[in-house]
Amino acid sequence: MSDIQRSHASCPPEYDRQVQRDDKAREACGVCGIYAPGLDVARLTFFALYALQHRGQETAGICTVDRGVAHLHKGLGLVSQVFNEDILQVLRGNLSIGHNRYSTTGSSVQLTNAQPYLIETALGPLGIAHNGNLTNTAQLRRDLLQRGVGLTSSSDSEIITQMLAGAEGDTWDARIIDFMKSAQGAYSLTILTRDAIYAVRDGSGFRPLCLGRLNGSGWAVVSESCALGTIAGTFEREIRPGEIVRLDENGVTSWQTEPAPRAAMCIFEYVYFARPDSILEGRSVHWVRRKMGARLAQEHPVDADMVVGVPDSATAHAIGYANEARLPYGEGLIKNRYIGRTFIQPDDRLRQLGVALKYNPLPDLEGMKIILVDDSIVRGTTSGPIVALLRQAGAREIHMRVASPPIRHPCFMGVDMASQTELIAARMTTEEIAAHINVDSLGFLSLEGLQSVVPFEGEAHCQACFSGDYPVAVDRDVA
Ligand code: AMP
Repeated sequence: MSDIQRSHASCPPEYDRQVQRDDKAREACGVCGIYAPGLDVARLTFFALYALQHRGQETAGICTVDRGVAHLHKGLGLVSQVFNEDILQVLRGNLSIGHNRYSTTGSSVQLTNAQPYLIETALGPLGIAHNGNLTNTAQLRRDLLQRGVGLTSSSDSEIITQMLAGAEGDTWDARIIDFMKSAQGAYSLTILTRDAIYAVRDGSGFRPLCLGRLNGSGWAVVSESCALGTIAGTFEREIRPGEIVRLDENGVTSWQTEPAPRAAMCIFEYVYFARPDSILEGRSVHWVRRKMGARLAQEHPVDADMVVGVPDSATAHAIGYANEARLPYGEGLIKNRYIGRTFIQPDDRLRQLGVALKYNPLPDLEGMKIILVDDSIVRGTTSGPIVALLRQAGAREIHMRVASPPIRHPCFMGVDMASQTELIAARMTTEEIAAHINVDSLGFLSLEGLQSVVPFEGEAHCQACFSGDYPVAVDRDVA
């Protein structure tokens, strides 16, 4: 017998009203899964999600299973806002999964989109936490509806849950393999069942996922290795593209399904998304970012008094630039560390206000010639206000250097990149952007330069946002 117990954090009525019309399914989130008999798995999941907070700040959720009974709690906001001691006490069990949801372009904050999803199936409870975005959702949705499966949202993660519940096979192993035959696009999943946690990565490996060991007999799968340190785990290895890993009383069991012809981990994870202390494809993200900065200095040199990074995401790139250029690296902007990323604000007006709320220039920039390094320009709404702040503080010249190429194409694989019309580099030349954000000069890292710092032994990364070359078929109407 199995039973499901749910609790949802309260949600203002206006959120519910938005459910039917606005739940675009584009998500780049943080996921984790823990199998650890004898340990407080909900608490470990809470801290793993805390470490993965940068991957999503819109909703958070944890689902556990205790002797066949599933417990779920999810809500709007940061991990620390959604959970407290009392809630963690209720989330008992030996197995758990967790999820942080990332805000999407123009989408409102809704509880319906919060994960994990939890349903009851013929094989017992099924919980799903998904990072990524399926690219054949329309077809999969039609197939499910024709089979009489009702859906409550347009979220692709709900589609995954229902596909798994109705897939061919008498075991979860078989059902997951069956699901992978028809799902296309990006999915790094943690799946909770009565007896096991599964970790699944799509055949292209778009989104990261790695395995760690907890002392004793426990195992953890997390989006990024940085979360393992937080829960006193040790990094074991990355989950391979197309791999299914099961964690249960037999330890770690793995199957390799057919990987896609082309590996395609998202190169933007290196540029911006991942935490610098994570390891991706065996490389330190911080090290890669310093190399990007160094290459940028080679491609776009300019003399200056100081190199300043936009904190915190461009700090490593700026240090790399300064070292290569043999210029002093310094702080020019101080970030209020208690304000979240500006992208959680949904419209441009709030985004711009967000920049002033978030950064203050140092008062001693009078007469200085500054190289301002940022990791990326997306809509172009952050750079202009930051440049204005530096000029108000007395900077004489500002030369902006961007440690990634111009973003001209939307992402269909789970990163909120805005629609094509919102992307400033899709509408303007480099000179026009420079004039728009009011800098003395502007230089972007070339695509060759970016590729050169993350060589991948004959295979490739997904770099579609820069090149427009999508590694899987995408429905362009969806962006
Ligand atoms: P924008 O103001 O739209 O040009 O955004 C660029 C700034 O947002 C940079 O400072 C980046 O560090 C950061 N950024 C880049 N990509 C994203 C993303 N997908 N979501 C949120 N912030 C981002």
